[in-house]
Amino acid sequence: MKQLLKYSLLIFLLSGYAVTANAQVSYLKITNYQTYYASAKRNNTDWFAIRKFENEGKIYLLLVDPDELETKIDEAAQYTLSPMFMAQARLYYQKSSYEKALRKAEQQSKSIQDAGIQSGMPSETGVTLTADLCPSVRPLDRRIFTAIFEQFKKVEQPVPIALSITGIWMRQHQQDLEWLKEMNMKGEIYITWVNHSYNHRVSKTQPLKQNFLLEPGTDVNFEVLGTEQAMLKNGLLPSVFFRFPGLVSDKQLIYKIADFGLIPVGSDAWLAKGQQPQSGSIVLIHGNGNEPVGVNDFISLLKSKTKSIAKKQWLLYDLRESVETTFEGK
Ligand SMILES: [Zn+2]
Repeated sequence: MKQLLKYSLLIFLLSGYAVTANAQVSYLKITNYQTYYASAKRNNTDWFAIRKFENEGKIYLLLVDPDELETKIDEAAQYTLSPMFMAQARLYYQKSSYEKALRKAEQQSKSIQDAGIQSGMPSETGVTLTADLCPSVRPLDRRIFTAIFEQFKKVEQPVPIALSITGIWMRQHQQDLEWLKEMNMKGEIYITWVNHSYNHRVSKTQPLKQNFLLEPGTDVNFEVLGTEQAMLKNGLLPSVFFRFPGLVSDKQLIYKIADFGLIPVGSDAWLAKGQQPQSGSIVLIHGNGNEPVGVNDFISLLKSKTKSIAKKQWLLYDLRESVETTFEGK
């Protein structure tokens, strides 16, 4: 009996650990979701709070580690909070990788397409893989995930991938989303969830400067915060990154996104457009079934690297780590 008790306790502890390690808690009754900026201190660690919300009577924060660029959701009551304006926070955290990445994104805000952080870790061999889940009637292109898992299972597990997700895709692809969450939970892949706006509107006729999020009448507040809430309801942890639909933005929009505390991430290797990946590239493919050409290119790239992968000379990098490493100590 004693043995059995011990055994069940062990199972309990182990399963408890698994849940926290790949925490996918769903917040189903969110109210008062808002931007909220504060230094949040607990046990000598200084997190940066960027959102506050209520769920079933408790107040929660979305917290950013300004050095590691990791995020987490936690109860506000656990922290000593010093609220500040975003401008003050930028000064307060000015030496962090987080603030440096925001500044760099703002400096690269001039072009209409592909602003933001475009590459990381130039000295490393390998790339950072990002796949976009724009609204689509087609199912998830699962080949991407099975291919990276198969190629890297002996050398890198879980294998990191950043997925830029839209509110509409989440609503229309629940089964695919469950499949992704399961891979993530089993530790086969590690997903960094990137905000890709809620509606991702696009016009075939409008010029870029009035297209995507630049379309007149766009409610940027909803596009950002509505997506985050949908992520939390679906058990996804919002990261500190944002990807512009169509990679289209202007200076004003970049500053607006930075004011939400989010780092815009571009790409220097959109494979379906024929851009060749270099060491340290942030590669862009589409996971929503709309760009099979880009996925084919990526799978061929993986195959061509089989030997280097086996020797750990060509790897996939975690977006948080690539951006953080690029800006730390600079
Ligand atoms: Zn998109």
